[in-house]
Amino acid sequence: MAQRIIFATANQGKMKEIRQILDGCGMEILSMKEAGIEAEVIENGATFEENACIKAAEIARLVPDDIVLADDSGLEIDYLNKEPGIYSARYLGETTSYDVKNQTLLYRLTGVEKERRSARFVCAMAAAVPGSSAVITTRGTIEGYIGWQMSGANGFGYDPIFYLDAYGCSTAELSMEQKNELSHRGNALRAMKKELQKRGIL
Ligand code: IMP
Repeated sequence: MAQRIIFATANQGKMKEIRQILDGCGMEILSMKEAGIEAEVIENGATFEENACIKAAEIARLVPDDIVLADDSGLEIDYLNKEPGIYSARYLGETTSYDVKNQTLLYRLTGVEKERRSARFVCAMAAAVPGSSAVITTRGTIEGYIGWQMSGANGFGYDPIFYLDAYGCSTAELSMEQKNELSHRGNALRAMKKELQKRGIL
């Protein structure tokens, strides 16, 4: 039985979140760097789930005795036919600043009323498990809307324009603890923990 979970990310924020959520599961939880592996995976899937599966399956080939978790996430804006979606990181170019990406999205929603500004963050989580060729996936979302200006300095990416009705502020104005509790990634991870427990893997 696997003793380690490798999370396919270089992002320390994500590592902290996964350690919090999987705390007490009895497995060692490592980033790719901590596991001593390096890989450049081309995410050419058509959905969040496909991209997460591609990542998990590819990394799993390097560490066949471990459970490999990978995620893919992004922002869907309903008025823009779910753009930027799976292209969230690449929207307007990978190296374009989020100030520009966010201002551009706000501009594209000029004059659009609140009811049609609905949006969500989506996260697909994939787990490759030793001895099984099938990759397990779960999905987590958080529903909100695109505000009229950028606000807040916490978080990253599209957080300054993504607002939550229940809080009356953007996710960039929440503390990290608050955001982790309700985030798409947290929800996908919690669902994955349940799924792995149900299958007797955790
Ligand atoms: P990845 O899944 O880490 O590759 O993230 C994809 C992209 O989606 C990020 O680069 C951000 O642009 C966007 N994104 C995903 N999750 C969030 C979030 O929680 N806040 C803001 N932007 C996010």
